[in-house]
Amino acid sequence: MDAYIALLPGDGIGPEVVEAACAVLDAVAQGCELVLHCETYPIGGQAIDAYGTALPDTTLHACLAADAVLLGAVGGPKWDDPTASVRPEQGLLGLRKGLDLFANLRPVQPHPALLGSSPLRPERLQGVDLVVVRELTGGIYFGQPRLRRTFEGQEQAVDTMSYTVNEIERVARVAFELARQRRKKLTSVDKANVLECSRLWRQTVTRISQEYPDIQLEHILVDAASMFLITRPASFDVILTENMFGDILTDEASVLSGSMGNMPSASLGSAYNRLGKARGLYEPIHGSAPDIAGQGIANPIGTILSAAMLLRHSLGLEMQAQQIEGAVSKALANGYRTGDIAQPGEHRLDTRQITGVILDYL
Ligand code: NAD
Repeated sequence: MDAYIALLPGDGIGPEVVEAACAVLDAVAQGCELVLHCETYPIGGQAIDAYGTALPDTTLHACLAADAVLLGAVGGPKWDDPTASVRPEQGLLGLRKGLDLFANLRPVQPHPALLGSSPLRPERLQGVDLVVVRELTGGIYFGQPRLRRTFEGQEQAVDTMSYTVNEIERVARVAFELARQRRKKLTSVDKANVLECSRLWRQTVTRISQEYPDIQLEHILVDAASMFLITRPASFDVILTENMFGDILTDEASVLSGSMGNMPSASLGSAYNRLGKARGLYEPIHGSAPDIAGQGIANPIGTILSAAMLLRHSLGLEMQAQQIEGAVSKALANGYRTGDIAQPGEHRLDTRQITGVILDYL
């Protein structure tokens, strides 16, 4: 099978972790007659420097034509000027919008060997196995109007939160389908006591739930959800929420697994690739980590596990995805650690060394 992957390493540690994930993908490909065609394209700050835009047309077109996209991270202090009209994250937002990737899946399953790396007591983490499905192309990040103006003599900023029924329905279906493949429980998170968008959200999710009588649905408010993620995280199976709530809750959830460096994500839409599978964007949840960029010590596991999700969702290679997940799990179980997940006194491997260990376990 031939598969076309657009690689977008981006900024900071992005190129380091994408290189690691590519090594793992190459090794898997050799074992299963998969011919990978990987091409690298600019995005983020690196693209701003070279082309004056965070998402050059060639990058977007290549991603639209690819079977899947693997991204590192974008951003860094060089491009952090809040008054700049061109900013690295525009690359990512533009890509999500351009590929119509409306569902972001973030699995959280703390590895038993890493329970001590989380600030939560290990007994709280026992049995945690959840996926957050975050709506990605609507809500306050994209709503209009979005402006600054003078209002009653002072400067005022306006952002708009908006959702259509269609936007809610399509992401809800992704979440219900996912719950069906798991423990059949869906928690929809909103702020229906305050926001009109949330009332439409709750009403729509409740209506869609009638198509899924086998799924147990609960609604909780986002403030309570943020508390329950810490006090009883094991009670969740699939969490469905809108764009901004999802952005915040997924960072909170990442603490459960010890380090952001371990956490993968997949962004899916309704478009299919040449192989008849979802055309998706796969990326670790962490940023470009400018504080450690260029040192070769970044944890590549989040990106390697994102590559596993790519094999599963975009290439239909479930067995190979599990092979990667198993190799990562063995490396962690046998005590191999990068700096971000090492306990004091534990030996710290650099990016290439931990990748080598994972390759050995494949
Ligand atoms: P960050 O995720 O880059 O880093 C937070 C902390 O976690 C840092 O101490 C960093 O060293 C550590 N860390 C993150 N990933 C790691 C890894 N793989 N291995 C080891 N340690 C890791 O978040 P930040 O510092 O808030 O943001 C830095 C830049 O990244 C900013 O410009 C921000 O806009 C951007 N950012 C990009 C994305 C993205 O591309 N998806 C996401 C978040 C932030």
